[in-house]
Amino acid sequence: MYSIIMKDLAHKHDLDELIRVFLKPSEFEFIENRQYAEKNAIIIEHPPTIVDKDDLKRYYFRELNNMTGYQPPWGILTGVRPTKKCNEYLNNGLTKSEIQRLLVEEFYVSEDKARLVLETCFNQLSINQIPTDNLVGIYIGIPFCPTRCVFCSFASNQFDQKKIDLYLSALFQEIDYVALMLKNLKINPETIYIGGGTPTSLSEIDFERLIIKIHDQFDFSEVKEFTIEAGRPDTITLNKLECIHRYGGNRISINPQSMNQRTLNQIGRNHTAEQITEAFKMAKMVGIPIINADIIAGLPGESDLEFNRSLEQVIKLAPQNITVHTLAMKRASKLKVVDKDYNYKEHSSLNDLLKGSNATLKAFGYGPYYLYRQKQTTGNFENVGYALAGTQSIYNVRIMQEHQSIIALGAGGISKVYFPMENRHERVPNVSDLSHYIDRIQEMIKRKNDMIAGPLSGIVKKK
Ligand code: SF4
Repeated sequence: MYSIIMKDLAHKHDLDELIRVFLKPSEFEFIENRQYAEKNAIIIEHPPTIVDKDDLKRYYFRELNNMTGYQPPWGILTGVRPTKKCNEYLNNGLTKSEIQRLLVEEFYVSEDKARLVLETCFNQLSINQIPTDNLVGIYIGIPFCPTRCVFCSFASNQFDQKKIDLYLSALFQEIDYVALMLKNLKINPETIYIGGGTPTSLSEIDFERLIIKIHDQFDFSEVKEFTIEAGRPDTITLNKLECIHRYGGNRISINPQSMNQRTLNQIGRNHTAEQITEAFKMAKMVGIPIINADIIAGLPGESDLEFNRSLEQVIKLAPQNITVHTLAMKRASKLKVVDKDYNYKEHSSLNDLLKGSNATLKAFGYGPYYLYRQKQTTGNFENVGYALAGTQSIYNVRIMQEHQSIIALGAGGISKVYFPMENRHERVPNVSDLSHYIDRIQEMIKRKNDMIAGPLSGIVKKK
């Protein structure tokens, strides 16, 4: 047991995140005084002269690095968006080599990860301009999936037609309200993203009703991207793809996660690897311009060889975007319930695997253009979106940059209102429970009216 002596708890949260990179939560505790430490505990206490948050993180990083021998590749960076720091430096006119040096020397980031961050920031420069205030992103959540993946922590519900009918009826009310609100404010969507869950798990009739509703209600004159997640190949049909194409959908995401059948069975997928290939063929035949494919490194029981083979097979399918995730095992996932220490196991080689995937993807012309880290990600690694030149997703970049308001509809949707003058966000969440969302739809709409319409109108007027 490690006892961390922390008299002033102001930075406890930041340090807790850093220490969890080295130690399991059961292996350490914060205490105010060393007299409360357990017998035989290893005590770490910073000198009282260190008060700055980053200095404290540096101190504990060095101590734990010495004690455990582990050198976390992201150094003391614990945030979700490591590119933010790099972009700040770029905006302040620092050169590539100055930024690389700062990340490595001041933040203890490994040379590889520092290079990855820099490359990612440069690859998003073409769509990195701060958007005008009269454009927003729209997110619409469909929280249904055919089965539940073992690592899932989202608000995903299994198919239930009665619930879907009630859900769509509530969602359509929210769509009507938000579309009218934006028209009144003279604000247009720049991107529309239907996520989930798996939106394509709706029946063909419901799916078309949804797409038509969105198409008819929102002003598409400024829409540059209309994205639909079609994650599970077993939910994709020719009719749904044709519907997407007919109503202007120009991006879909088909997410194999793995092309290895044993892994697919093990993670709770109800489909074959061949169905993934078929779904890609159909989407190309229909003419969807940009397809993203998600793949996950660190899946339970999957060897490095199997992951690399999956990646090669996904590249052969020729999607324009490939997103390499690192397994995130959150509290609500089935696997975490079975094995609470999953995130700390089996991953000594994961960093090499991610490095290898970066090299492979680059060799096939894919460049990293967005990057984020999730809390409780295996080994505290990253998720990286790769794209062929000119196919980067604006929606993904805007989400990472946090320079635009995102209005989220549906159960679990978290809207973010961006205040450009203060460069800050305010979150406006919908309830995440499906039944609560259906029952409280009028309250969700009122929340949008009170907490989004008002501030957005002020922001647009100030311009
Ligand atoms: S497809 Fe995504 S949302 Fe659906 S169960 Fe799997 S991880 Fe969860």
